[in-house]
Amino acid sequence: MSFVPIVFIISAPSGSGKSTLVGRLMTEVNGLTFSVSYTTRAPRGKEQNGESYFFTTRVEFEKLIAKDDLLEFASVFGNYYGTRRSALDEAAQKECDLVLDIDVQGAGQLKRKVPSAVSIFILPPSRVTLERRLRSRSEDPDSVIDRRLNDAAREIGNYESYDYVLINDNLEESSKTLVGIVRAERARRSRVEEKIQPILETFRDATFREAVTKE
Ligand code: 5GP
Repeated sequence: MSFVPIVFIISAPSGSGKSTLVGRLMTEVNGLTFSVSYTTRAPRGKEQNGESYFFTTRVEFEKLIAKDDLLEFASVFGNYYGTRRSALDEAAQKECDLVLDIDVQGAGQLKRKVPSAVSIFILPPSRVTLERRLRSRSEDPDSVIDRRLNDAAREIGNYESYDYVLINDNLEESSKTLVGIVRAERARRSRVEEKIQPILETFRDATFREAVTKE
């Protein structure tokens, strides 16, 4: 049977440490591939096309929507963001599980299309901590930070639709927990069923051989 990737959806408000946690997850766990999204927002800083995102125009993005080429998409902060359908096939070809960093709207769409997807919400420990992180890391004007805080409040309200909620008050601990979630999901009985039967077969053989030698 062909490889069926586990889909890991990770969402979090901006400033909750998601990028760092996802980065660590990708280096610490083998057999994962990151889904590079399409977006109409402009590249920031040193972002390269094809690394953090595929940068595209609104016209091209709307063509992808019209062709039903997207597994999910959303408009976030006035820009489109979306995942190509091909992301799943590519992960299957590489025999890797797929990690997506997408917002709450996209997570809902994806869960409906791929019900076995595992969703993880990263929560900052408090509003004060989030505000402190946002102010210390960016040179954005207060109005932008205020908008991010309001967006965070709205996004956080969706935590109930996620399978796991990771409260990121300690990066080391949260990183271990995230790695643990991925490993535990891989060990679910339903996902290892195919590997179990051949193992059981070897035991059946042993019983048979034992019976034969005793005769
Ligand atoms: P940023 O512009 O800061 O990189 O990302 C803004 C938001 O867009 C983040 O919450 C991120 O999770 C979300 N996002 C990134 N890629 C996708 C995608 O393909 N689909 C959806 N629905 N959201 C995305």
